[in-house]
Amino acid sequence: MRVVLLGPPGVGKGTQGRRLATESGWALVSTGEMLRDAVARRTPLGLEAGRQMDAGLLVPDEVMVGLVRERSALPDARLGFVLDGFPRTVPQARALDGMLEGRGQRLDAVVSLVAPEGELVRRLGQRRECPVCKRAYNLESAPPRDGRHCDDHPGTELVQRADDQEATVRKRLEVYREQTAPLVDYYRAQGRLVEVPGTGEVDEVYQAMKQAIGRTESSGTTPARRAGSGSGGR
Ligand SMILES: [Zn+2]
Repeated sequence: MRVVLLGPPGVGKGTQGRRLATESGWALVSTGEMLRDAVARRTPLGLEAGRQMDAGLLVPDEVMVGLVRERSALPDARLGFVLDGFPRTVPQARALDGMLEGRGQRLDAVVSLVAPEGELVRRLGQRRECPVCKRAYNLESAPPRDGRHCDDHPGTELVQRADDQEATVRKRLEVYREQTAPLVDYYRAQGRLVEVPGTGEVDEVYQAMKQAIGRTESSGTTPARRAGSGSGGR
């Protein structure tokens, strides 16, 4: 199966997507991870993408589409994949549909994880990382042993990533609302959208998500009718 996970920053999409992919034998195609890797390697694309992300902005569509096209063609995606972080705009969704059609494939489900904004700001405010090894922590759900320093680098104090600072978080949520919300309409119009509450325990959310995907699978629908051309847009 090919599944898209939608959801605002902080809703737990990364965690849920990784588990879904691992347990199902599908590839996790995380654009955030692909981008952070490019940034860390300081490729020309990575440097440009890093500037955009630090400012809370989105990376251009053609860059994202190219990354996803290459990644989803690798052998580990043969049985299926979970897309996390893509598409983020209606033009990207159309590019994805076109890409899959060209391969004789289709998108099986679009899962939208939803949570109140105040909860998302609070959750993201708890994230920290080690500046040396980039290991991720969460002061609430996955704290370091001493509460302040990296478990593997005891002299190194954890830091907040620039894009997790509150002003940037608010900006990211605003960008998400403005640019990604039309996607929900796009997929809903095609009958491919399932909404799952992203609040509650990680395992509860996961089970709800699995059930929702199972329902789309067992409904046995034919490939969704395409929305009328020119509808939606940015
Ligand atoms: Zn470390």
